[in-house]
Amino acid sequence: MSGASKSALVTGITGQDGGHIAELLHEQGYEVFGLIRGQSNPRKAAVEADLPFVKLIEGDLTDPAALVHAVDTSDPDEVYNLGAISHVGYSFKNPSLTAEVTGKGVLNLLEAVRLTGRAEKTKFYQASTSEMFGGLDYNRPGSGYNEDSLFHPRSPYGVAKLYGHWIAKNYRESYGMFVACGILFNHEGERRGIEFVTRKITDAVARIHLGLQDKIELGDLWPKRDWGYAGDYVRGMWQMLQHPEPDDFVLATGETHSIEDFLTEAFAAVGIDDWHPYVVQNPAFMRPAEVDILLGDPAKAEQTLGWHRDVDFAGLVKRMIDHDIALQRKNLPA
Ligand code: NAP
Repeated sequence: MSGASKSALVTGITGQDGGHIAELLHEQGYEVFGLIRGQSNPRKAAVEADLPFVKLIEGDLTDPAALVHAVDTSDPDEVYNLGAISHVGYSFKNPSLTAEVTGKGVLNLLEAVRLTGRAEKTKFYQASTSEMFGGLDYNRPGSGYNEDSLFHPRSPYGVAKLYGHWIAKNYRESYGMFVACGILFNHEGERRGIEFVTRKITDAVARIHLGLQDKIELGDLWPKRDWGYAGDYVRGMWQMLQHPEPDDFVLATGETHSIEDFLTEAFAAVGIDDWHPYVVQNPAFMRPAEVDILLGDPAKAEQTLGWHRDVDFAGLVKRMIDHDIALQRKNLPA
């Protein structure tokens, strides 16, 4: 299906998924608008270079008037609400800000669509998360969390996302808006922020491989996550908005791996069999509450949307390592 002559507004355009979805939409022929915050956002130049086709609109998810302006300017057929305070550790240190942006920001954007008379025209994607499940009440051992599983968020981020999830569903039920919530398990890739553990590892392993760094400091190594590739997951977001009915879908791989597994795979990719000498555990990176295990069941998305993932765990890690080695090599003196 082509998006020719369609318009999309993407919040979180400077983030990982914002970059991937903007590329996908552009390839489909959409006119792509991106919401960017701050008077002089340090990531603006990178977005302009990486995604020159995106029309940037200034605005913040905490500012309802700015969102009305953004929606009026872009007149979107589809809104992808990817903007959030998205780092679990950061959310423990900034819980009120996380509630305002990640939680109430969803309401502000839904209202901007509704109050500008676009409740019928504009489809809305909400970036919900597996962190809403929290790893406790693990009621589907072996098969993973699905759309009917219990929520028990274990961080200010997870709690704020749960508000966003329910207010999005509420606007679907109350106003008949086409609102789809993607409950996405962790997804990573070359665009992942350096503050996230996977990219922190691949960046460090690349630097260790090139002799630029000796050690990497990490928090707990036992938590298990269901890690997929961001490029596969943004395709699923788009598919949710092309489906005839608005609904909620889990996107996951159905496999779970510990941070130790990620280290093993990442160091093996540069020929190092034993990563222990290179890793230091630092309590500063441990969280007040940790999610033990996340495992998702993507059966509904696979069967209803025909969604599938192309990149497996080993392929994901290799991709990130190759990218980070190439990036570091560019910075080396000739
Ligand atoms: P990300 O790389 O951390 O990007 C977050 C984006 O939100 C950035 O562009 C950031 O802009 C923007 N933002 C932060 N505060 C804002 C505010 N007050 N107003 C407007 N924009 C603001 O996140 P991601 O990995 O692309 O994830 C996209 C979405 O999916 C997020 O909502 C995330 O919580 C959710 N999610 C992600 C995963 C995952 O594994 N990646 C899994 C499930 C759900 P600045 O550059 O200005 O800070």
